[in-house]
Amino acid sequence: MLSEEYSNKTEQRKTNKKSNYEKKKKTKKCNCRSGCSKRSCYCYKSNRGCDSSCGCGSSCQNLFNHLDYFFGEDSKCTAHPCFVDWLVKNVKNADGLKKIDREALQQKIMSCGRFSELSDDEDFQKWSKKWNRIEANEKLGHIQKFFRMLLSDDATMHYYSFCNDDLAEDDCDWHCTICKTCRDWREWHCDGCNKCAYGTTLPCQRCERKNQMFSFW
Ligand SMILES: [Zn+2]
Ligand SMILES: [Zn+2]
Ligand SMILES: [Zn+2]
Ligand SMILES: [Zn+2]
Ligand SMILES: [Zn+2]
Repeated sequence: MLSEEYSNKTEQRKTNKKSNYEKKKKTKKCNCRSGCSKRSCYCYKSNRGCDSSCGCGSSCQNLFNHLDYFFGEDSKCTAHPCFVDWLVKNVKNADGLKKIDREALQQKIMSCGRFSELSDDEDFQKWSKKWNRIEANEKLGHIQKFFRMLLSDDATMHYYSFCNDDLAEDDCDWHCTICKTCRDWREWHCDGCNKCAYGTTLPCQRCERKNQMFSFW
């Protein structure tokens, strides 16, 4: 009896998985025949990489397909929203992305004001230990690991804020993808006037709309 119940459950899980997959397959894709330029590509505009269903092939210049340049080839990292907006602002296409000097970027991050805060972070301690006696052939891989820690969406505790040119704390700061700036945790994006408002429990100072996330107040 028990095992039957169990197999029913797994069956259910399988179908759930399947329908999720189908949903994913149906998400809108770009219609570019080639190139995927910043102006016209739907995938690019939704901050997403292209895939085989797009039909743009090897000519694809969508920079979100080339983030392995920063995160390493076998990582499935997506970029932190702050990094995404910085890339979109500063880089035209995949070729431009590859002109970014990774070592210079790493140095820039390491010399920011709040960088020393990372010394308490266990992952960073491990990273640093190895960095101090790194072999030339391991350097790039280790820099990519550094970027995964601070520039990817699964960055823990801290991320690098291009808006502030400094380290930011995941608990205290976030990047508003509509205003395109890093914000304090006390701020929230108001749909009414389409700007960030201050005070999570306060209504928006401009349009008096309440923060949906705190609507029980
Ligand atoms: Zn496209
Ligand atoms: Zn596409
Ligand atoms: Zn493409
Ligand atoms: Zn930001
Ligand atoms: Zn905002």
